[in-house]
Amino acid sequence: MEEMTPGVFNEIPYEKSVRHYDTSKMPLHQLGVFTFLIYALSKILMVGKKYKIEKIDMEGIKPPYILLSNHMHFVDFYLNAIATYPHKVYNIATVDGYYRRPFLMEWIGCMCKRKFTTDPDLLKSVENVLYKKKGILSMYPEARYSPAGTTAILPDSMGMLVKKMKVPVVVMLHHGNYLYTPFWNYRKPRKVPLYTTVKCVLTAEEVQELSAVEIQEKITAAMQYDEHRWQQEQGIRITEPHRAEGLHKILYQCPHCMTESKMESKGAILTCSACGKQWEWTEDGYLRALEGETEFTHIPDWFEWERANVRREVEEGRYSFEDEVEVFSLPACMKFQKVGKAKLTHNADGFTVEGIYKDKPYRIHRPVQGMYGVHIEYDYCYVRPEDCIDISTHNDSLYCYPTKQNVVTKLSFATEELYRFKMKDRLERRRQRLARVKDKDKEKEAQA
Ligand SMILES: [Zn+2]
Repeated sequence: MEEMTPGVFNEIPYEKSVRHYDTSKMPLHQLGVFTFLIYALSKILMVGKKYKIEKIDMEGIKPPYILLSNHMHFVDFYLNAIATYPHKVYNIATVDGYYRRPFLMEWIGCMCKRKFTTDPDLLKSVENVLYKKKGILSMYPEARYSPAGTTAILPDSMGMLVKKMKVPVVVMLHHGNYLYTPFWNYRKPRKVPLYTTVKCVLTAEEVQELSAVEIQEKITAAMQYDEHRWQQEQGIRITEPHRAEGLHKILYQCPHCMTESKMESKGAILTCSACGKQWEWTEDGYLRALEGETEFTHIPDWFEWERANVRREVEEGRYSFEDEVEVFSLPACMKFQKVGKAKLTHNADGFTVEGIYKDKPYRIHRPVQGMYGVHIEYDYCYVRPEDCIDISTHNDSLYCYPTKQNVVTKLSFATEELYRFKMKDRLERRRQRLARVKDKDKEKEAQA
């Protein structure tokens, strides 16, 4: 409810028959038979794939503990189940993971979460898993698939959560999964070996000794990865001729003519349709301009260059976005509701979705400070295989399909950069306020 603005109706005016899924439900105890079935099914689904799981510093580490994994695609879940068997893993899952299968998700002990919202009930479920069930609390703190094979923004509350829970932290880092099924083209897997490390990064004693900030720093350091670098270092060749198809979704801005949203990709070639410049993504994982200067040989460098451009727009107060979107919502888990056309705006005030549902106007607003990131999709498998952006509230999730093409990556950058800017601004003002108080205290002391 924290994002409710007085006088603004922050919900879609559904008919009474539309229920909202109760995300505050306590997780159920996972039966041993389910633990085995998940493991067996994961093993079957991994048949024919080359993978290796390595455990590091895991001697004597038994549940309860917190397991943090990086997230690239569905294959992560199978590897997670294989690596942790025979222990019981309780996953925090997003509401669309419950789509058409809420009972199954409940039976295996999942906890439901709406993305990038604050959920005070989740803490109770986490305590329940760790203290009562003595299980593994499994989280994907990036809260989405990695768009460019590098660490996505992490919530700054992890250190506090771990400090409060007083249990060890294990980090599961997957390598190869992004290259195998990149988020921007997961339908055409490539032949890439998968390698997962499971490492205890904080023991219960270390959690006791360190501050929340230090814990946060340790986790952040342990969660760093760059899959493109990994490919280059391991000398992995991706020979599939379609390897760059979809790459324009993350590399949406041309570094030659600066035009946005006009990039295209086919085969192994990325093209700017505005100026015609072309780049090849080579088999060994580098970009190479077909003519003229190669601006970036490394995909994450191009990606971060785009982010820096968005950051500048935010800092200079130039950033704003407006578009007509088609909205599908998921208040409960069995059916997407067709909400219809709406206006989506994104600017220094945050996200606003305004529209009319069954003759009743509505306005959904999420302020900047309530969202450190946003969930985007390039080929959303549940509604329509196109780009969309998920704006969630405490009891609903709106999947908005923009009319403008290839804009969602920029929306994701802008969400993160607006948050960063706002928080920096807030911290600065707090620092100034404290300095003023201190000055006054000093004055008083001097007078006394
Ligand atoms: Zn261009």
